[in-house]
Amino acid sequence: MATASVAPARRDPLAGIPRPAERRLALRVTPAAQRALRQGHPWLFAQGITDLRGDGKAGDLAVVFDEYRRFLAIGLYDPASPIRVRILQHATPATIDRAWLRDRLGEAAEWRATLPETGTTGYRVVHGENDGLPGLVIDRYDTTLVVKLYSAAWLPWLADVRAALDEAIPAGGIVLRLSRDVQRRPEALYGLSDGTAIAGSPPDTVIFTENSLRFEADLYRGQKTGFFLDQRDNRARVEQLAAGRRTLNVFAYSGGFSLYAARGGAPEVVSLDASAPALAAAERNFALNSHIPAVASARHELLQADAFDALAAMQQAGRRFDLVIVDPPSLAGSQNQVDGALQAYSRLTGLALGVLEPGGALVMCSCSARVGAPAFFATVHRAAAQAGRPLNELDRTGHAIDHPVRFPEGAYLKALFATA
Ligand code: SAH
Repeated sequence: MATASVAPARRDPLAGIPRPAERRLALRVTPAAQRALRQGHPWLFAQGITDLRGDGKAGDLAVVFDEYRRFLAIGLYDPASPIRVRILQHATPATIDRAWLRDRLGEAAEWRATLPETGTTGYRVVHGENDGLPGLVIDRYDTTLVVKLYSAAWLPWLADVRAALDEAIPAGGIVLRLSRDVQRRPEALYGLSDGTAIAGSPPDTVIFTENSLRFEADLYRGQKTGFFLDQRDNRARVEQLAAGRRTLNVFAYSGGFSLYAARGGAPEVVSLDASAPALAAAERNFALNSHIPAVASARHELLQADAFDALAAMQQAGRRFDLVIVDPPSLAGSQNQVDGALQAYSRLTGLALGVLEPGGALVMCSCSARVGAPAFFATVHRAAAQAGRPLNELDRTGHAIDHPVRFPEGAYLKALFATA
């Protein structure tokens, strides 16, 4: 008997998700919420809603009216999120459908059109709110896209997003990632889980380029969507600073800053991270670039340790560097953690200066959205002054162009370049 030699057709993982409801919810909101929406803010918080007609499910379209029943905005309703409606369109009514999504995605792609010319095939294609698609992030890694949802409201729209992507940003495959908040809502996921291929069969690990350096990313399990794409421009600045400088990359993850430092001429690069898999990836990323003479000749050392402990131990042991980069994970997950985060930035500044040669360069980064730029920069300066190493600032930077900032909360990334 011949057994089936043809692979069984794979069931579409989106097949079990119901289509978005036809009906629309009608909302009235407080005067403060009206003002925010008129200014184009993408979020309507639960406490801003005064009247809700209908019983909304995640992904329902909600239309917001002012007190004269004039249209203010339309967005996606999410009953389980404090951001109750994520606004898709302000001021003029629109039919939200596949064609509307395709147009938005096309505009986002257009904004990044020149990036591949810079030797960059890994970059953010859709940056959520900042590209008019709140709660939706899409990153490109060579020919594979990663779609990451920060609200369960996107699930009923996922088949439309996939079809719209096919027209606006054709790709070889798509991996779906879910934020931690969304993963906690199994009732809204229709059996889908974090790290699912929803188009094609993308491999576990893809190789992409950033400013012509080669990197691998684990799209199914890696942090964020596999790589910290937002640091691209800051890494390029590090490359400019690195010639002849022994470099320490604290919170190195897969070695992004380390590779740029090596290509920029650092004779020695230490990648320090608590995660063994991250450091293993950093080592493979060095191997991927061994055709570059400066990378091949740099001595790359992996150090798996807690950053705070390791910095103190290196200071004790008299180990010193000429360039230190500190890029910790987000340290304030909620508003009441902001003070603790600022204390941690202060401690890290002091610890980093403890291993920095006089006249060396320091790069301090913060990706905590709740820590504002003025507070972060002031904290780093104060800690340095207290350590007796006042900083001479070279530069303050934020995001690369594929991470546009179109509303205040979108400006999460801050970096300070200085010598001390
Ligand atoms: N600089 C990186 C991104 C850093 S993400 C890049 O450009 O790609 C934050 C990293 O900090 C993660 O890799 C995480 O494993 C690591 N980390 C978190 N807490 C840590 C700690 N206490 N000590 C050392 N590493 C830590």
